[in-house]
Amino acid sequence: MKINMDSAGQLGKALLDLLFPSNIYCICCGNLIDGSRVYALCDQCMEAIHWANGRTCTKCGKVLADTEKRRLLDQVGQNQELCDDCKHNRHFFQQGFTCMQYGSVEREMIHKYKFNGCAYMGEKLGRVMLDRIRMERLQVDMITAVPMHPKKQMKRGYNQSELMAKVVAKGLGVVYNNRVLIRKHYKAPMNKLDARQRQLNVQDAYAVRENALNLNRKSILLIDDVYTTGSTADECSSLLIQAGAERVYVLTLAAGSN
Ligand SMILES: [Zn+2]
Ligand SMILES: [Zn+2]
Repeated sequence: MKINMDSAGQLGKALLDLLFPSNIYCICCGNLIDGSRVYALCDQCMEAIHWANGRTCTKCGKVLADTEKRRLLDQVGQNQELCDDCKHNRHFFQQGFTCMQYGSVEREMIHKYKFNGCAYMGEKLGRVMLDRIRMERLQVDMITAVPMHPKKQMKRGYNQSELMAKVVAKGLGVVYNNRVLIRKHYKAPMNKLDARQRQLNVQDAYAVRENALNLNRKSILLIDDVYTTGSTADECSSLLIQAGAERVYVLTLAAGSN
């Protein structure tokens, strides 16, 4: 049987839908859903996810803790609402934005996306990020993602941040550029490290590519999956700025609480 390219393409798509039915099952818990859901999340998961829609730090985008909210509310006339970290530490990026507060539901979902070969989730989670950043009406010239070490990416099969960044770039009509940063060497996973160790772990871990496109006076949106202490976002932002970028914004899927 002769299959022309068109029907081979359709066959491929149909097969993919069978293998990764992202519009039939909730990407978070696996419950059956109908195909009309843009983020492929069921009602329970939409409810269980801690969306970062409350009061957030005006610098890094983290959700502010309740006690801090109360304290801030008492401070009449204070319009800069910063988390403890941003009150004491300088960040290289202009502003950070996030979609969710990183808790157990979010951790489980992101782990499934990263470690279970669920690349198809990138399309849906990228859509969440796109809708979040659209609210900010940012003017950016270029979108890039925090790179992974090539060996690690080959092992995983994809860079989870890159898949989401591409969805955001396409939705905003901004160029996605992965010829900017490289991850120089593989270092220990960050999830068990404290703030100081994280900072040391990312120091010198990234570099601007020798053949990077011109970043002069560019406004860049950097995309990562999780924002914890901001050490990765800072390291990458400072490199981009040293390479000529005018400002760097950071968009993450989830951010740890303060
Ligand atoms: Zn669900
Ligand atoms: Zn902050």
